[in-house]
Amino acid sequence: MKTVSTLFDLRAARLSLYGTVGLVPTMGYLHEGHLSLIRRAKLECDSVAVSIFVNPTQFGANEDLSKYPRDLTRDLSLIEPLGVDLVWNPTPEIMYPAGYQTWVEVEAMTRPLEGAMRPEHFKGVTTVVTKLFNAIQPHKAYFGQKDAQQAAVIRQMVRDLNFPLEVIVCPTTREADGLAMSSRNKYLEGADRPAATILFHALSAAKSAYEGGERNAEKLREIMKVTLAAEPRAQMQYVSCADYDTLEELDMVSGKTLLSMAVLLGKTRLIDNFVLG
Ligand code: AMP
Repeated sequence: MKTVSTLFDLRAARLSLYGTVGLVPTMGYLHEGHLSLIRRAKLECDSVAVSIFVNPTQFGANEDLSKYPRDLTRDLSLIEPLGVDLVWNPTPEIMYPAGYQTWVEVEAMTRPLEGAMRPEHFKGVTTVVTKLFNAIQPHKAYFGQKDAQQAAVIRQMVRDLNFPLEVIVCPTTREADGLAMSSRNKYLEGADRPAATILFHALSAAKSAYEGGERNAEKLREIMKVTLAAEPRAQMQYVSCADYDTLEELDMVSGKTLLSMAVLLGKTRLIDNFVLG
């Protein structure tokens, strides 16, 4: 496994990769969710590249950039046994040198949900993912369903800008009690950790209603709200029942549908979602 930082070293390492290349973009502090993406890439591609970069431009001014957990040594020891060929770990100065002024933006579908709570977030995501795609030129890129809006935005961007690659969205990996794995789960303190399963329970309750025939989107949103309200430690930011591709809120559920939510537990902000249909 080759680990590089500069663009010069990355180019040389990329040239030495054989066959189809799969890219797994990450911000590090890897957990089983990230590793599931890497395993899938290994199955489907001849060579696998992983990027580890805590991208400053996708964090808002009062978000947790400086506190975001980092442990490169641990990350490398987790991915080496999976047969990863190349790790790119650039610095913020390599990605955004002095004078940097070019941005990639996806419009309507970045405005609701996470975009409403985090106005600059997706501009940072789509810009850094464009830079990763240009630098590594993967044939396939792997993203997690855990970040459903991010996956939808990147699918849209790849279509709109004709990136010659396939976006593959992999299922959410969960803890035994249903909590979606996330690097931010380590912030959950004391009783907030068991209380965090309320997101999974709220999504499960809405899914059961859907499976029982409920198609009224407002009723499904209401079921998620009522379930979340039963956990006094949880403070709901939004719940949504939206079209899977456009992310527009639905009146009635018919095609592929995204149930999603953001919830604060103490100071920790968690997101989760289920796909219906
Ligand atoms: P991050 O390091 O949080 O930016 O995540 C890197 C990639 O891993 C993104 O595509 C995420 O959607 C994905 N990911 C994060 N958590 C999970 C999870 N629990 N299950 C599956 N994929 C995940």
